Amino acid sequence: GKRAFIAGVADDNGYGWAIAKALAAAGAEILVGTWVPALNIFETSLRRGKFDESRRLPNGSLMEIAKVYPLDAVYDTLEDVPEDVKANKRYAGASNWTVKEVAESVKNDYESIDILVHSLANGPEINVTSLQCDACDLSKGTDYRHYQLPVSIKLLNSNVAGGATLSLTYIASERTIPGYGGGMSSAKAALESDTRVLAFEAGRKGKIRVNTISAGPLGSRAAKAIGF
Ligand code: NAD
Repeated sequence: GKRAFIAGVADDNGYGWAIAKALAAAGAEILVGTWVPALNIFETSLRRGKFDESRRLPNGSLMEIAKVYPLDAVYDTLEDVPEDVKANKRYAGASNWTVKEVAESVKNDYESIDILVHSLANGPEINVTSLQCDACDLSKGTDYRHYQLPVSIKLLNSNVAGGATLSLTYIASERTIPGYGGGMSSAKAALESDTRVLAFEAGRKGKIRVNTISAGPLGSRAAKAIGF
């Protein structure tokens, strides 16, 4: 069977969860990366059976998550993490959650993965930047932090040999969608551009497929946070 790592699962409402289920139904072993501040509640809810109904697969069995990795994809390495974040109770309670450390942990635990799914949406920054957008202060320009998440796919990629990666994009990369502001539309345009370039590079180098799905609107936590 294939082994899949899905980055961006912290409840049963988003695309990450749905993709995990589809892969589990197809026989894949499921690993997930969960945003550090959301880790406790996600693991507790899982343990207490809160997701049991939505874990049900077409054959009647329940999706098993082999391992939940704490992840904050904003930070590539521990050196990138500011002191106040390191000291934050929710972060201090977990370890090895930068992108590079998660990649190493997965490698130590499982040697390799076949499928990498990037289903991250930027939580706290989105609020900040959409406020800027509401004020129509375009002079502030694009918040480059939004690029960091799509681009971090490259680092996790090193664990995949002859595998496949998938991310999620949105039509606002090509057309104006009112309210999808604050640099998010540009981040998706960058993601689509990165996808094309990486598909070429990674395809030649390691026979890795790189794809992105332009998904329709879904009432996920991230979508609600920006008022969609
Ligand atoms: P979601 O809230 O279910 O998923 C986003 C996940 O990213 C959450 O689990 C959140 O905890 C996690 N996250 C946020 N910041 C993180 C960080 N720094 N490190 C690690 N994890 C972090 O929302 P979703 O809508 O399912 O989003 C998944 C992807 O789908 C996103 O890329 C989004 O842009 C894309 N998408 C969504 C829609 C939609 O309408 N919901 C449409 C098209 C594309």
